[in-house]
Amino acid sequence: MKCTMILTGIVLVWESSNNKGENMKNVNKFTRAGHGKYIVCPECMHTDKVYHFAWSGLSCSYCEKIINKYDWLIRDKKTMERI
Ligand SMILES: [Zn+2]
Repeated sequence: MKCTMILTGIVLVWESSNNKGENMKNVNKFTRAGHGKYIVCPECMHTDKVYHFAWSGLSCSYCEKIINKYDWLIRDKKTMERI
């Protein structure tokens, strides 16, 4: 499936399978930010960068919904490089 989304003026095109788990997994209690991690809003698929996970919920900077920590998806580096 090919997705095209326009996010804050940037057009992102990426291939994704029907199984989101292939490329992205949910934040879990073992997730560490390290030098920053890209997380994806499950509501609008907007990508935000975070530098720590010392929060239980975070509002998406795009759709402004409050998303539970464990509902955010992790976008790994490989996926970012493909974009
Ligand atoms: Zn959002």
